Amino acid sequence: MKNVYVHFPFCRSKCSYCALKSRSGSTPDERKTYIEKVAAGLEAVASPIDTLYFGGGSPALCDLRQLKAPIAGLLGGRTEFTVELHPLDVTDRKLDELASIGVNRISMGVQSLDDATLKAMGRPYTANEALKAFMKIRERFSNCGIDLIAGYPSDRSDYSRLREWPLDHISVYSLILEPGARLSNSKNNLSFPSDDETMDAIGSITGILETMGLERYEISNYAKPGFECRHNLAVWFGEDYIGIGNGAHGRTGLVRTDSGNESFVDAKTDRVERTIFRLRTRYGLDTALFPEWRETLDRFAEEGLLSKSGMVYFLTPRGREVCDTILAELV
Ligand code: SF4
Repeated sequence: MKNVYVHFPFCRSKCSYCALKSRSGSTPDERKTYIEKVAAGLEAVASPIDTLYFGGGSPALCDLRQLKAPIAGLLGGRTEFTVELHPLDVTDRKLDELASIGVNRISMGVQSLDDATLKAMGRPYTANEALKAFMKIRERFSNCGIDLIAGYPSDRSDYSRLREWPLDHISVYSLILEPGARLSNSKNNLSFPSDDETMDAIGSITGILETMGLERYEISNYAKPGFECRHNLAVWFGEDYIGIGNGAHGRTGLVRTDSGNESFVDAKTDRVERTIFRLRTRYGLDTALFPEWRETLDRFAEEGLLSKSGMVYFLTPRGREVCDTILAELV
């Protein structure tokens, strides 16, 4: 079983909150050269894989038809092939291109349902335009979802409007400002919501999504049954994954890669990394391999942050708000 992530570091424009390895202003020649490198990376994988994920950046800025041959060698009957799209990428022509190379899952970055916030983020479309783009995707693909960010300064999104979106999947991330993001430089002049206000917004989104049949299967991810992102589940459940492209991470055995550069971890670190993120999922953290974690986890359970079934621990609603603190105590 193999999972492959390909990073496309090109963007239409740089979003205010983003510190990822991506940039605007690329030329067609740069993108063509990059695609040739990606093609070589995909050819080296050379066997059917379980999941393929094109993220970025905006993968659709590249002509992905150039990857058709190497991709064809990787897709089996059950391969999940996801591409992230920007709402402005959504044209009939681009959707044809994606369908022609075997894409069967689309994740569109919407980020806010408030037009003023989209403008402040540097995302040049309105919420209605994003919905229109999503409906176009919906007509062509049977597995599609969106991303939102909660906690952006002065965001007045009316999340009840999510009911207008026929979603299979949605990721809702709290705003985390990393150094290098444009917003980090101007943050003193802005009014950020408190952590409690952001948690309240996520709580109300969760309630609305439940009425739409989307279950929270990971702290930041919700899906209709059967539409969970298999690529991300593979990563959280400790499977190997190959990373191709600038800024892509990979994990094979004890080898870790970052933009193609290799490093090694010891066997214990490897086992911890492959196990610990299960706590973020609704499937829980099985401590069979880590009995030494139980004393700490039992303490969090007594505080009402975890529940327990045999050796498996699950986050409670309160625990979800402090998951990073719990994980930090285990490593
Ligand atoms: S959020 Fe996405 S589209 Fe915006 S700058 Fe970052 S990588 Fe590019």
